[in-house]
Amino acid sequence: MSHVLTLNAGSSSLKFGFFRLNGTVEDPDPRIVGSIERIGAGERAHIKAKRQDGFVLIDQEFGRNHVPDHDTALARAVEFLKEQRPQAKLDAVGHRVVHGGPDYDEPVELTQTVMDRLAQFEPLAPLHQPHNLAGARAALKLFPEAVQLACFDTAFHRNHPWVNDTFAIPRKYYDQGVRRYGFHGLSYQYISETLHQIAPHLHMGRTVVAHLGNGASMCGLMGGRSVASTMGFSALDGLPMGTRCGQLDPGVLLYMLMNEGMTPAEIEDELYRKSGLLGLSGLSNDMRTLEAAGTEEARQAIDYFVFRIRRELGGLVAALGGISTMVFCGGIGENSALIREKVCAGMGWIGMELDETRNMRNERIISTDFSRVRILIIPTDEEIVIARAARDMLARRAEAAA
Ligand code: ADP
Repeated sequence: MSHVLTLNAGSSSLKFGFFRLNGTVEDPDPRIVGSIERIGAGERAHIKAKRQDGFVLIDQEFGRNHVPDHDTALARAVEFLKEQRPQAKLDAVGHRVVHGGPDYDEPVELTQTVMDRLAQFEPLAPLHQPHNLAGARAALKLFPEAVQLACFDTAFHRNHPWVNDTFAIPRKYYDQGVRRYGFHGLSYQYISETLHQIAPHLHMGRTVVAHLGNGASMCGLMGGRSVASTMGFSALDGLPMGTRCGQLDPGVLLYMLMNEGMTPAEIEDELYRKSGLLGLSGLSNDMRTLEAAGTEEARQAIDYFVFRIRRELGGLVAALGGISTMVFCGGIGENSALIREKVCAGMGWIGMELDETRNMRNERIISTDFSRVRILIIPTDEEIVIARAARDMLARRAEAAA
């Protein structure tokens, strides 16, 4: 029996998934999924994990400073998994890596050469890539026998048209790698594959996916492939997010630099950690808190979030030349009836008609029977995309060895 571990290292968190493979074709079977949050010196980290049936296996805080870095977090996660599955041998470890740069448009085995190449993309994603690679280095040490692979958030978008890949600045920057990469690719791939399974005729058409979580972006798909997306060079562009600004006139950066005298590090902190819903509401980055708050600022933060989604929706529909399906996913997209209702309000002109009752119940299809555009909720699952990639890589290696 083969097993796969999936790892998704964020700036202060590590998500892990333990999958059993039942052959080379069947979907990997998720046995345990969990996370360690609040990794860092002086913090009290928290581990949570459940079985696929929802049974909670652990929900526990560590002592202060017990999980100061990602190496320790991985060691803790592995200890826990070994307690749960002492007999299981790991055949592959799949890593979510934010940036594959211009090179990688599919998962790749993590050799030293690949690791070195990926480290060169650190300046392109300074808040994510170093953590992803730290997780990969730690796993390479812990599981030298397992196949290790990287699955990229950028890969799904690599073949989008050139006009969506570039900025109108001197060409040398494009050659240096200053491009519109687009992110959340593992989520979009999951949605695309799921559409293919559940509604192949919709998959063939024009789809706009709104991945609305703490990080948020939208993607236009034609025949299941990325045509345009709202995130660009970094994970800052496009929609406003929990703490990230979203679309911004670059003149604002010049203002911060020249008039406010801010340092690059201060600007980075302002745009990544203090902006978005948090910056506008002055209250929280969490949509549930904002929906419950009822203050003018919280309402305005929600209004801006919705306004940007609607603008981007119009832009993506124009880029696609129409729309047949709209998909909501991510923590907000899957759970907030209010946001979905506000996004879809008055969108009859592009054929979108939301069914109020289905929307309130978070049903799979939330459009009316007469809506020209199908509106769906599809809970996303980035981990299974990584596990499938690991399954396929193991199968290819076995075939090559035979
Ligand atoms: P991440 O990008 O960190 O993976 P998630 O996809 O988990 O984020 O989404 C987190 C967001 O989803 C938070 O803003 C949270 O408030 C929001 N959310 C979760 N459940 C609900 C709900 N029932 N109503 C409104 N917002 C929700």
